Amino acid sequence: MSEAEAKQIERMKAVLEAQKAAFRTERHRPLDKRKADLDRIAGLCRTNADAIAEAISKDFGNRAREESVIAEIAFVIQDAEHTKKHLVKWAKTRKVGVPMTLMPGKAEIRREPKGVAGIVSPWNYPFQLAMAPLVAALGAGCRAMIKPSEYTPGTAELMKRLLADAFEEDHVAVITGGPAVGEAFTKLKFDHLFYTGSTQVGRLVAKAAAENLVPVTLELGGKSPAIVTPDYPQDAAAKSIAWGKLFNAGQTCVAPDYVLAPKGSERDLGEAIINVAAHQFPDASSDDAYTAIVSDRHYDRLNAMIEEARQGGAEILQPGHDAQAAQAARKIPPTVVLNPPADAAVMTEEIFGPVLPMVGYSELDAAIDFVGDRDHPLALYVYSTDKTQAQRVLDETMSGGAAVNINLLHLSVPDLPFGGVGASGQGAYHGEAGFLTFTHERSVFSTGKWHPSRLLAPPYGKMFETVAKRQMK
Ligand code: NAD
Repeated sequence: MSEAEAKQIERMKAVLEAQKAAFRTERHRPLDKRKADLDRIAGLCRTNADAIAEAISKDFGNRAREESVIAEIAFVIQDAEHTKKHLVKWAKTRKVGVPMTLMPGKAEIRREPKGVAGIVSPWNYPFQLAMAPLVAALGAGCRAMIKPSEYTPGTAELMKRLLADAFEEDHVAVITGGPAVGEAFTKLKFDHLFYTGSTQVGRLVAKAAAENLVPVTLELGGKSPAIVTPDYPQDAAAKSIAWGKLFNAGQTCVAPDYVLAPKGSERDLGEAIINVAAHQFPDASSDDAYTAIVSDRHYDRLNAMIEEARQGGAEILQPGHDAQAAQAARKIPPTVVLNPPADAAVMTEEIFGPVLPMVGYSELDAAIDFVGDRDHPLALYVYSTDKTQAQRVLDETMSGGAAVNINLLHLSVPDLPFGGVGASGQGAYHGEAGFLTFTHERSVFSTGKWHPSRLLAPPYGKMFETVAKRQMK
């Protein structure tokens, strides 16, 4: 561990104490103050859009500015504005009915901030995946500490500075560092821990949180399939799948990981996807619109996956490119893997890059079984003009989220909860789901001077019998 990391570990404990103390002095942050907090988030995004996009691009080696604008900066602005717009409704105390035997008592659910939230974020959307949980936490009235990924240090430092300018440290703070800092961070006694990252580290985070009984949200990864049915026009499927797979060079948690295509059509669909890719990025190796792979480790991992599949007998399709320039720029050209061996890493591990295996299926049942035999994915996509078939796929599979005849964009619908299920995660955020993640729904039952428990108190007699009989009905 570096000296700087050791310092961050010391600092995080002090910051947590300060945030907890500050929270106790303002347990119910007024809604107008929360709205001002959200305005500050949207404001810092608008004012620093260029600096944010540049920092991300530097961290990646090259990230298309358009991708950063739409998927990071505009996304967070929209999220903050949506939260602000609906805050009064979401924060409202809900009255609920009481059974006759408990009348004239009153029951209500108060939506109260949980306290101090810990947010651990990954590198693939280094701004959005730290700031969107922060928007939800601030909307709910919480204080928050963020631990961004060490793979995108420039973005982490920029976020730290921008948030320090906009918020007191006892309200919002950024703690930087690698896995050792992450590990120490997840052992802190937060009031809620929100983790986005790999399933492997997610397991460790869940264990650390369990030690302190800290409630935890796990936004993890997995292998999200795209199922194409025979009736769906091939060019439309190819355009949509190529777009979702190549956005951020496939380094997207909900990118289509592999395609299940009707047997016999894999090659045509694969070639159509490569043609779309060639049109989008005439030379992926030099095109700034095509994002680089974030690190040498991931670059080597992806190349090894392609090589292993090739040696296992799969056919590799790629558009023409300058291999040397691609390597120098740490870019993997759009790659389709035709019929990979079942035990190859491309079919057993999350790919998280622009590499797309195509697997043929004979009947829709077989495609559904293929998905059902594996961990529940974070997303599932079905391309079909036949509504019954699309419905069948949705009915007979399980995934965190799903989209029909499109991919990725389900996460941009602010009122759709976003999260995984089983191995792809637990809990959700975005919109009201995010607000509720950082909220404790506190049940309160109150009565006046007369209270119904009198009916249930000993010495038991006729009144108790009457109440009990009613309850047993
Ligand atoms: P990662 O798990 O390696 O790292 C994520 C964060 O955890 C980083 O901040 C890292 O420093 C920290 N960390 C590392 N080791 C730790 C430990 N032992 N204890 C505590 N924290 C630790 O993930 P990554 O490589 O940055 O991100 C890629 C993964 O994230 C992919 O699997 C992807 O699918 C997933 N992801 C999921 C979502 C989602 O919303 N569900 C979004 C983006 C990425």
